[in-house]
Amino acid sequence: MSAPSTAVDLRDVLAGVPTGLFIAGRWRGATSGRIMPVENPATRQILTHVADAGVEDAQAAVTAAAAAQNAWAATPPRMRSDILRLTYERITARTDELAAVMTAEMGKPLAEARGEVTYGAEFFRWFSEEATRLNGSYGTTPDGRTRMITMRRPVGPCLLITPWNFPLAMGARKIAPAIAAGCTIVFKPAPQTPLTALLLTDILHESGLPDGVLNVITTSQAADVIEPVMCGGVLRKLSFTGSTAVGKTLLEHASHTVMRTSMELGGNAAFIVFDDADLDTAVEAAFAAKMRNMGEACTAANRIYVQHGIAEQFTAALSQRMSALVVGDGLRDGVQVGPLIDAPSHRKITGLVQDAVAHGATIVGQADLPDGDGYFYPPTVLFAPGPDSRILRTEIFGPVATVIPFDTEDDVVQAANGTPWGLVGYVATRDLNRALRVAERLEVGMVGINTGIVSNPAAPFGGVKESGLGREGGHVGIEEYLEYRYVAIPAG
Ligand code: NAP
Repeated sequence: MSAPSTAVDLRDVLAGVPTGLFIAGRWRGATSGRIMPVENPATRQILTHVADAGVEDAQAAVTAAAAAQNAWAATPPRMRSDILRLTYERITARTDELAAVMTAEMGKPLAEARGEVTYGAEFFRWFSEEATRLNGSYGTTPDGRTRMITMRRPVGPCLLITPWNFPLAMGARKIAPAIAAGCTIVFKPAPQTPLTALLLTDILHESGLPDGVLNVITTSQAADVIEPVMCGGVLRKLSFTGSTAVGKTLLEHASHTVMRTSMELGGNAAFIVFDDADLDTAVEAAFAAKMRNMGEACTAANRIYVQHGIAEQFTAALSQRMSALVVGDGLRDGVQVGPLIDAPSHRKITGLVQDAVAHGATIVGQADLPDGDGYFYPPTVLFAPGPDSRILRTEIFGPVATVIPFDTEDDVVQAANGTPWGLVGYVATRDLNRALRVAERLEVGMVGINTGIVSNPAAPFGGVKESGLGREGGHVGIEEYLEYRYVAIPAG
């Protein structure tokens, strides 16, 4: 196996990552003194331990966020903008360090981790620019009797909960617009990947974010710790990224105090390849849509529908591409696919592939596995699983590409829409009319045409149906953290 390829020494980097809770501008341990381990999924070794917050710590974070809210809302937008811009610059300057930490705790190869740092940093730059453009309006009622002013106000203290698959970007997509809008924050990152989030917190603190604006709690007892603070009436907004099942539970909690919610939930994306598609473009786009983040992405192409005329060629080319991938520890040179996040994820994907084969699927290509204890799963191409296969109805969240042949446009649109999810869909064709027609018919929040990557900080990211509520990024991303206030004045 090749040597580690980090430009920084991981031990040095880890030594500089805070491991406490960050409350009211101060790092401290959990009140109970409890800590929890952070594992490297490529080696199963424990990297370090972080504080394991209990309910009292979460309450302290909420109290700190509430105490800071009014002053933060009154801060000049330019100051909020400058802090965000400085954060963007500092993240960018520390790309290697952040990427190494991310790879060590999450598993993705260093090149992908660096890509995520760039992507995540861009949210700070984007929202630094949005922070100074929060305008209201002035008008008159139709009968001419009343002047109407609308102003934009921050929604108030926000709870931000993120998953492990994009440890920097998922936090950035929420923290940056919340800061830009003048909201204070309680942030709970995923327990598998707290270190990137804690390093980001340190960078925001160094960039001049006032005490209490961002409070961070890491915990192994999310359900017990979060429900009481959500029902406490102080937090005004929840922004959650994670699974649809957990999202539904949190929506129930949010209903107790009618919290505003933004929900970025699971997906089951269809990638549709028509006969007339350029083969190379279609294969590259499907590969990107499947393998970004090793398949551990909500936008991952879960079902790749290919029209009969091109199905054989497409499957062979995709299979060749997937089988050639180098799997291993993402910190090492030349590795293109890292481990899955943990043992349950490995068990789930193993079971889905076994079930698909039992329902008629053929394994047409599979990469080699490295030696070692990591949670490695080989990139795999499955052809034609039967309609009852669980893999068609489950978010795979791993490096398994499932190819399903189809006949007509109507058939494939019906199949693509035949799921409770609706995050993203993809279309590969040279016919612009067909591309737009199918984009109009797909029940999704986003569509990629002849591309497998749709995410961009300047674009509104989000889904319909059980994939969620609200949008992150773009001009609308900040709306999630703002309320309208209307002021009526009699016209005199
Ligand atoms: P998850 O199990 O839903 O967990 C997400 C976060 O919620 C974690 O921090 C988790 O902490 C926390 N959590 C779980 N139960 C909770 C509860 N009862 N109260 C409060 N917090 C709770 O999802 P995941 O496995 O980390 O991430 C994968 C999922 O995220 C996939 O479904 C993927 O599609 C989705 N995702 C969606 C988007 C999008 O933009 N639509 C982006 C990325 C990922 P614990 O782990 O400690 O429970």
